[in-house]
Amino acid sequence: MKKYNFNAGPSKLPAEVMEAVSNACMDFEGSGLSLMEMSHRAKNFQPVVDEAIALFKELLNIPEGYSVLFLGGGASMQFCMVPYNFLEKKAAYMNTGVWAKKALAEAKLFGEVVEVASSADKTYNYLPTGYEIPADADYLHITTNNTIYGTELHEDLDAPIPVVADMSSDIFSRPVDVSKYVCIYGGAQKNLAMAGVTFVIVKDEALGKVSRQIPTMLDYRTHINGGSMFNTPPTVPIYCALQTLKWIKKEGGVEEMQRRAEAKAALLYGEIERNKLFVPTVANPKDRSYMNICFVMAPEYKDLEAEFLDFATKQGMVGIKGHRSVGGFRASTYNAVTLEDVQALVACMQEFESKH
Ligand SMILES: *Cc1c(COP(=O)(O)O)cnc(C)c1O
Repeated sequence: MKKYNFNAGPSKLPAEVMEAVSNACMDFEGSGLSLMEMSHRAKNFQPVVDEAIALFKELLNIPEGYSVLFLGGGASMQFCMVPYNFLEKKAAYMNTGVWAKKALAEAKLFGEVVEVASSADKTYNYLPTGYEIPADADYLHITTNNTIYGTELHEDLDAPIPVVADMSSDIFSRPVDVSKYVCIYGGAQKNLAMAGVTFVIVKDEALGKVSRQIPTMLDYRTHINGGSMFNTPPTVPIYCALQTLKWIKKEGGVEEMQRRAEAKAALLYGEIERNKLFVPTVANPKDRSYMNICFVMAPEYKDLEAEFLDFATKQGMVGIKGHRSVGGFRASTYNAVTLEDVQALVACMQEFESKH
């Protein structure tokens, strides 16, 4: 049966990306070796890293003076690398979800942390407004898309201090004004590649300003100087990221990804609002994520939750169970998820409604 993959991460990838990776894993560019058994310093691997970095910069229109890094450790490792490299005395953090909260907790190991705003009072189902950013903080940390709760900041924030953003689950879903940030990072496994590689965009001149000693592997400068090759990088995931970047470019770039994301989100949120069985968890349309669309059963149909999950699963829907902290359902509609995939989910919701 055809599967419709709405997994939150690792998540759906374009078929041609997986085909290219599979081919490279059998025979890398006719070399007679698998990409898995080659040196990362092989002459024919260096172009993979170079091209991935160049395309990354091209697609996001990254200005001069920024480096793009491919590291290990996941976005979670960045929760400590960011304060290690940027927090001298005090940092400001927005608490908009579980990942944001984890980043905030980690920063406390390095200095004073101000929680600028929080939406924890309502299970993170909205984005706070009307907060004040302390002008004397070294940076403001934000999470642009809250993967678990389905809220998303759709525009680049204007802040009086340097901004650091976790863009794990919305990178390459819209154009970003990178000049407004000193650092953007994320795990690749949501919208860029298979699991195993972490991307970091960092402003070179913002580094070297903290007085503490930084362990070599946790110092961004190590990886800038080493060209993401200081130690053995995750070669296959980087190759996978390169294939996705090529696919994004071929499909029309981040503007086209944004257009598609808006169309998919409009279709699914529209159905959630129309269908008597369901309600969205994020009430304010402005705060709703285009990447992770969360909904629950309407109160009078609460008992049908397990039945709908079963019904949808039998129709090939994968990964729509909501995160355990929210319940209900979450359909992740990353770049590789097509409008047809979302149409299939909508048809499934309509069929279920007609039975009740
Ligand atoms: C998935 C996710 C993370 C954690 O990523 P890892 O690579 O597993 O460490 C952090 N932040 C956000 C916004 C995420 O969606």
